[in-house]
Amino acid sequence: MNYRKRFIVEPGAKPRLAKIDPSYRGKHESEETALPEIAKEVARIDRLQYLLYADASQSLLIVLQALDAGGKDGVIRHLFTGMNPQGTRVFGFKQPTPAELAHDFLWRAHAHAPGHGEVVIFNRSHYEDVLVVRVHKLVPRSVWSKRYELINDFERILTANRTRILKFHLHISPQEQLARFKQRLDDPARHWKISESDYSERELWPKYLEAYEEALALTSTERAPWYVIPSNHKWFRNLAISNIVADTMEEMGLKLPPAHVDLKQICRRYHAAEHKSF
Ligand code: AMP
Ligand code: MG
Repeated sequence: MNYRKRFIVEPGAKPRLAKIDPSYRGKHESEETALPEIAKEVARIDRLQYLLYADASQSLLIVLQALDAGGKDGVIRHLFTGMNPQGTRVFGFKQPTPAELAHDFLWRAHAHAPGHGEVVIFNRSHYEDVLVVRVHKLVPRSVWSKRYELINDFERILTANRTRILKFHLHISPQEQLARFKQRLDDPARHWKISESDYSERELWPKYLEAYEEALALTSTERAPWYVIPSNHKWFRNLAISNIVADTMEEMGLKLPPAHVDLKQICRRYHAAEHKSF
């Protein structure tokens, strides 16, 4: 299946999240049959990230957004099984610090954007400034409503600097969210993940969907597309995302750079070294 075609938010389209089945799992009945395919995607990412790092003239930014328990942490863990930590970073967008609040909302995003050769994952992102900020009315509409264009401009700046941008919304159902909250309650190893806001934010589900739909509609562009990934099944989510990441990296034309030394001359030095003992 072409996962990119299937899950992309076409630029200009107005996605209706309620119409997208969060339990979709393509041709696979279960995780078992998907595992070999997932392993193949991870191997592709492994090879391509090596090239990206070696080539060091382009970068990749992966934006992850979801409601609570949507699986952002799981995606990060999965994608990085196929990457050398050298050349990767994760940045988590928390409530802004006073210094961040004193700047424009894109300041912290820009500061953590990937440099050449790097893959950076945003765990939440500058999109919080048109999501949580909008839902909780942290700034007036006159302020947040101008941000979609500013985000598009910002992402244009990054792409002009040879950064590929992929944006994923992990789409789960309210029932699935509740099931994951239950797992957190039942498993002492997950108690640390529970927060009261999980439950108060859940009450605002319709408002979040509205905010997400508008963000997806106004900021999915050719250069920085959004993908809505059915995420009730964690394994399907991992399969779709790793395939989209690998296909995108494949398109970046990554090549091993040539040696920056004269290989003939280095060979002579190698042979000389072979014959000298200490
Ligand atoms: P977590 O992802 O569970 O670590 O929580 C991070 C929290 O920070 C979430 O509740 C986000 O909604 C919140 N957050 C992130 N960015 C912003 C922002 N720009 N303004 C207000 N809250 C934010
Ligand atoms: Mg949370």
